[in-house]
Amino acid sequence: MAASDPITDEVTDLLQQLIRNQCVNDGTVASGGETRSVDLLTQYLGRGGLDTELYEPQPGRASLVSRIEGSDPNAPSLLLMGHTDVVPVNADGWHRDPFGGELVDGEVWGRGAVDMLNLTASMAVAFRKLANEGFKPKGTLVYLAVADEEALGTWGARWLVDHERDAVVTDYVITESGGFQMPSPAGPRLPVLIEEKGTYWSKLKVRGTPGHGSQPFRTDNALVTAAEVVRRLVEYKPETRIGETWRRFVEGIGFPPEIAEPLTSPDLLDDYVSTLPLGFSRMVHACTHTTIAPTVMHAGTKTNVIPDFVEMEVDIRTLPGQSGDEIRAMLEEALGDLADRVEIESNDDPSTSSPSDTPLWDVLTKTTSRLVDGSSLVPFVMVGGTDNRFFRRAGSVGYGFGLFSKHLAFEDYATMFHGNDERVDQESLRLSTELWLATAKELLT
Ligand SMILES: [Zn+2]
Repeated sequence: MAASDPITDEVTDLLQQLIRNQCVNDGTVASGGETRSVDLLTQYLGRGGLDTELYEPQPGRASLVSRIEGSDPNAPSLLLMGHTDVVPVNADGWHRDPFGGELVDGEVWGRGAVDMLNLTASMAVAFRKLANEGFKPKGTLVYLAVADEEALGTWGARWLVDHERDAVVTDYVITESGGFQMPSPAGPRLPVLIEEKGTYWSKLKVRGTPGHGSQPFRTDNALVTAAEVVRRLVEYKPETRIGETWRRFVEGIGFPPEIAEPLTSPDLLDDYVSTLPLGFSRMVHACTHTTIAPTVMHAGTKTNVIPDFVEMEVDIRTLPGQSGDEIRAMLEEALGDLADRVEIESNDDPSTSSPSDTPLWDVLTKTTSRLVDGSSLVPFVMVGGTDNRFFRRAGSVGYGFGLFSKHLAFEDYATMFHGNDERVDQESLRLSTELWLATAKELLT
């Protein structure tokens, strides 16, 4: 399990440093501090003789671009994009320091180890290695270490695509995540995220009437109303929808009929999903439903004051083809007679997708089959959002991919994402680095 080759050592070391930089994005503009990791990567790539461009739309929120220019402007171009920010942690739930970047028994521990500093690091290592080898592609290769992925890309990918399009938009884009090995009787299946759900993040405001906390009888307590709003949202069951990508994924994995049938039947899926292992059931459910998760609530000012105002945030994820109007109608149905007590403000960012019949797909098929014996690719749905959406809307083919070793089971991967004890094994880091090297060479020369 110990590191045994220079590439593995190099990517391990870079990942540890990225983790220790603690670029925690809590959604506020003052958080993130991605410039720390951009400085690190500027030095790292600079030592390989590479030029870098910095874009810093807000103090501390820098992104870095480096390019290996192709010789043929008509040849396809490829962007390897990794974000440098991570989500907050609650250290109480961890068995190691979440920002220690410790290497323990061949695993690197820390926030970002699978989301997605592992890939940000492996992409940088591959990029610098290509430059060192004197890589002269026909098509341009671009490396982007991007800020603010974890808060809708406002100061990262969204900003870059809007303001610095020529610097970052390419024909093909690869970013998180995918590539975990799903065992099947015909060999490991590697999901490529060709589609992602949309977000419809909403702020809900509930108003009441203030009063003295010592006399609660017949008061109009906004917090009590809000609690009922939360209950109704959670109780609401959006219908099951079997999309094309989900169906192709289930077919591609080659599940036996007794599993494939309930996974692709809107009538059977809801009962079946609750019998599955926890991580897998959450994923199956999210791939086939609009999801509604109340996540933040602010209420009240003082113990003896009946609150007259509550503001809550709800994380809503939408399926391909769903409009904002459709989601709004769902919310109203869920709230029932409380609908007119709730003011809703939403940010509609619809689902995006890319085709799978592309040269990049063919190249990835070839390069991964050399790295993972007997493997093949399957299209998959990303249930969260990634920066791919901005690039897909700008006309790029965007895939979420990377490679993970067979030691990292999907079940673990899914629970570590934004969860406790996030860590990645060094074999996964090596595989991803090899993947970028081989893919750039195949696609761009
Ligand atoms: Zn991520």
